[in-house]
Amino acid sequence: AKSVGGNTWRFFAADMAPRASQKAELEGELRSALKRQEFVLYYQPLIDLRSGGVVGAEALLRWRHPRRGILSPDAFLGLAEETGLILPINEWVLREACRQGVVWQETGLGVLRIAVNLSPIQFRRQKVSELVRDVLDSSNLPPASLELELTEGILISHDEQIVTQMELLRSIGVSLSVDDFGTGYSSLNYIRNFPLHRLKIDRSFVKDLANDPRALAIVRTIIDLGHILNLQVLAEGVEEEAQLAMLRAEGCDEVQGYYFSRPVPSESFAEWLTTRGG
Ligand code: C2E
Ligand code: CA
Ligand code: CA
Ligand code: CA
Repeated sequence: AKSVGGNTWRFFAADMAPRASQKAELEGELRSALKRQEFVLYYQPLIDLRSGGVVGAEALLRWRHPRRGILSPDAFLGLAEETGLILPINEWVLREACRQGVVWQETGLGVLRIAVNLSPIQFRRQKVSELVRDVLDSSNLPPASLELELTEGILISHDEQIVTQMELLRSIGVSLSVDDFGTGYSSLNYIRNFPLHRLKIDRSFVKDLANDPRALAIVRTIIDLGHILNLQVLAEGVEEEAQLAMLRAEGCDEVQGYYFSRPVPSESFAEWLTTRGG
């Protein structure tokens, strides 16, 4: 603010100050949210398209803000990544999701695959494989029941460290999926180089499936590509019967979306699963 003229400065300051202070306030709240146990996980079912059975659940983070209500990750994930708070937050997510997975197994709800979203920052700053090993050990969740979701951004980087971490994760026995597939980068080379298990087709393609032949062409191509490379393919964001029918016809393996259930708290998930009959 030194070199700008009076009027300009005032205009600029008036415009920026509230945003900066709001951000500072949010950061302060974010810092104490873990201690105050304000985070909670919601779960959304993962459905096998052939059997129609529930094969897993994706854990999705929510912040029960004392004044603002339930906040979605979009409202705070950016700041959490900027400040590095994403590291302790995601560690909590991992521990909590594994703990819940074991509870469901022990209460007879069946062996579900628990899918957890990882942040690119974790791969850059943490030995993710050591964290995962520790979390599995202390929760007693079988490694095969844990799936880690990564975005294309992590996979595209030519960092040896990331390849090593992924190979270690694979040796532990957890599975790895590519989230939001098709939206990140045009290079497909990384699919060959990483020990992946599943592609998750981004919901932007699924959304237009029934009325845009180009969306159908892309979905069909991703399913074929996945299968040729021995990967499972899941379609995200299924909201309508018509989308489901088309995905079934195309040979998609699994689906997820509001058509079955929105992400819900663990108790509601268990209830939904029980009334659905497995
Ligand atoms: P994502 O991993 O792609 O998760 C799917 C998002 O799509 C979720 O949004 C979910 O509520 C929404 N969704 C599911 N089915 C449908 C549908 O049929 N229609 C529509 N319109 N939306 C659907 P959510 O829960 O707000 O999460 C947003 C993003 O935040 C996630 O996208 C993920 O990238 C990130 N995220 C969520 N939890 C965590 C976490 O624990 N750690 C990290 N690092 N990121 C997380
Ligand atoms: Ca995800
Ligand atoms: Ca143990
Ligand atoms: Ca996704």
